[in-house]
Amino acid sequence: MHADGVAFPKRISLLRSRLSSLAVDALLLLDMKNVRYLTGFTGSDGVLVVSESTVCLMVDGRYTTQAKEEAAGVDIYEYRDKIDGVVDIVTDRNYMVVGFESAAMSVDVYERLRSRLAHAILRPLSEELSDLRSVKDGEEVELLRKAAAIAAAALEGCRHLIKPGVRERDFSLDLEFAMRRGGAQETSFPTIVASGEHSALPHATPGYRQFARGDMLVIDFGAVCDGYRSDETWTCVLTEATQRQRDIYEIVRQAHDRAVDAIRAGVRCAEIDRIARDCIEDRGLGAYFSHGTGHGVGLDVHEAPRLAAKSEQTLVEGMVVTVEPGVYIPGLWGVRLEDMVLVKEDSGEVLTKMSKEFTII
Ligand code: ZN
Ligand code: ZN
Repeated sequence: MHADGVAFPKRISLLRSRLSSLAVDALLLLDMKNVRYLTGFTGSDGVLVVSESTVCLMVDGRYTTQAKEEAAGVDIYEYRDKIDGVVDIVTDRNYMVVGFESAAMSVDVYERLRSRLAHAILRPLSEELSDLRSVKDGEEVELLRKAAAIAAAALEGCRHLIKPGVRERDFSLDLEFAMRRGGAQETSFPTIVASGEHSALPHATPGYRQFARGDMLVIDFGAVCDGYRSDETWTCVLTEATQRQRDIYEIVRQAHDRAVDAIRAGVRCAEIDRIARDCIEDRGLGAYFSHGTGHGVGLDVHEAPRLAAKSEQTLVEGMVVTVEPGVYIPGLWGVRLEDMVLVKEDSGEVLTKMSKEFTII
């Protein structure tokens, strides 16, 4: 358990204060990242019920002891069957309108609940709850900082392994092993190590391709520290670089730097995306920047807010977002530079550690 014991009741009371504007009597939380955020429970299955007078964590028998230990101050209810458990509590407490995270409930569960809770209205919520975890407290920021430091130390420790002839998957395994050995609970996501033409795929899977002279090498990696996930991308060139590789790297770096420099509380997320995109479009490369500029990061590697053209969110002090512009030239190579940035009142603080200077290895 990471929080100091004060964070969870505070998060619950913030959520409670929103029940009336959400027009619900109670909320059913099934997204286990949200359940962890609100109670400290780290198990992989359960349901949290929050109402004005109740905080009840419902779990099956595998998790009862763990839930009692981790979710102090929360009522623990053991069910044999999740649907039965939810039906029992909603009926017992006579909740009439029950909100739930629509992205976390399957149609199957929804239909079963609906048929057994004829007296109640089940209200799907998505946007309304998506910002629940977006503003981080000091302790969360420290965990993200620590996760980023573990990941960077691992990559620094593996740098000497980057040489022609090494296979992508072998290097990614070495890097993942180094992150685990350095204290990561797990990797934030399957590590991306993409060389040569593979680096033109934004989400490449490491394969059997061997690194070769002149390759662009894109490494997107992260470590988990007490549930919090780092996310960083570092790009380098092997042995020698062409002028075009240098030029495009510098364009991406400019897009990255300008977007990072623009981060502060009160700026619209779409504006950050616009700043990065303008740098790349102005050089005629807009078609090669095929994804949004960034995303929130925390217990999930992708969470609110989104830094994209259509985002309607605004940066708030305490958010942690990535900035990750890229240019991908199909069949040739790609460049992506990604850092995690803490939003402060009048600036952004980069939490990730790798230098984004142009590097030849
Ligand atoms: Zn990433
Ligand atoms: Zn990312």
